[in-house]
Amino acid sequence: MVLLLEGNALAMISVEEALGKILDFIKVLDKEEKPLLDCLGQVLVEDVYAPFDVPPQDNSAMDGYAVQSKSIAGASYEHPSILTVIGEVAAGWVSDLKLESGTAVRIMTGAFVPYGADVVVPFEDTDEVDRKEASISRTEIGVRVDLPSGSNIRRRGEDIAKGKLVLNGGRLLCPAEIGVLASLGKNMVSVIRRPVVGILATGDEVIEIGQPLQPGKIYNSNSYSLAAQVLSYGGIPRIMGIARDNVEQLTTAIHQGFDCDILVTSGGVSLGDYDVVKKVLAAEGDISFWTVRMKPGKPLAFGTFKRSDGKKIPHLGLPGNPVSSMITLELFARPAIFKMMGRSNLTKPNITAVLEDSIENRDGRRIFARVAVSRKNGEYFARITGPQGSGILTSMMKANGLAVIPENTKLVKPGTVVEVMIFDWEDVDIDEKDK
Ligand code: AMP
Ligand code: MG
Repeated sequence: MVLLLEGNALAMISVEEALGKILDFIKVLDKEEKPLLDCLGQVLVEDVYAPFDVPPQDNSAMDGYAVQSKSIAGASYEHPSILTVIGEVAAGWVSDLKLESGTAVRIMTGAFVPYGADVVVPFEDTDEVDRKEASISRTEIGVRVDLPSGSNIRRRGEDIAKGKLVLNGGRLLCPAEIGVLASLGKNMVSVIRRPVVGILATGDEVIEIGQPLQPGKIYNSNSYSLAAQVLSYGGIPRIMGIARDNVEQLTTAIHQGFDCDILVTSGGVSLGDYDVVKKVLAAEGDISFWTVRMKPGKPLAFGTFKRSDGKKIPHLGLPGNPVSSMITLELFARPAIFKMMGRSNLTKPNITAVLEDSIENRDGRRIFARVAVSRKNGEYFARITGPQGSGILTSMMKANGLAVIPENTKLVKPGTVVEVMIFDWEDVDIDEKDK
């Protein structure tokens, strides 16, 4: 077996250096064309120009009467302008009515404004209800306001003018972008495809969920937390089962993931006797690094597996501890997945919060402490979510962010302002005992 190391892969490197090495290798994936709604969270490939005006015609913003502004000049409640109603137009119907001075057309919201009208008077500014109640003929209508030309009319092309560049290639498709593309009638869209992320658990002690729990064994929670994270980042997780702690089995299992865009393994990267991931990585590809100056997550390996056709598959060897694997996936795989998906912004905005507990940093690593952030009187406060052992997965469940304690800070006292990477604001469940 030959250990192929790029520089000194054994050296402990910083979080930034590790991320830099990963992102240097990662390339943007190819494109796919698919139905509009399936593209949510993906990046548009092509520039989209408006083939027509949106809205396509002047249309009414209210239910009311379309009139000429000059017909209602000076109208008031006491001195209404009485106009002849020449017809009605509902949304979706095209009318050939032509308005002239002294006439009105009853019109519904969204209906195209008939030729000649330049104002829509809302029902409530007419005497329609009074006429109805008094059973007076509605072949005429009294308008009780004087409105300037253009009132309550949505102009043709006011949202999007024909020929305009509406969305640039490279734009992330969020709900509003999906809506705008729909308003242009687009049903199929070209986007950068989602990466397939192979997720392989390792460990002789790990068994699949759904099986009876046996002595000495634990359930494979990592593959599920990691797959759920991958889904939330927009990737396609492929759970590849559990490989036992021997080189042959792990090698076979890893080969089965050679058509993935990135392979993620959990476990088997620390210094224990049975830690075989590094051996397989060394034999089947190149190791870039395997220790990062962070806590949790120090034993994190990155490298590439080489397929027989020469193609290199990036591999993130996450630590086995359930919290460490989730945190390292968030810090390293999320930006990698975003980059593969063509997203330009790979970082999340951090906030600052007042730490309510103290954190000690004994060995000069960057600490990512699980915290529950809440807002009181306009300020954010962060509280540690109970014991911080990297096997305590429920501490992740209670957290909505990670407080970042720099490598060179030995002690953070309560009341100190710290940086917090936020996961999610919703559903933070803080137990009474942790308060
Ligand atoms: P390792 O990195 O393989 O030494 O594993 C570190 C710790 O994480 C051990 O206590 C393992 O039992 C645990 N662990 C490893 N893989 C998994 C998994 N798939 N699900 C839950 N815990 C795991
Ligand atoms: Mg293990």
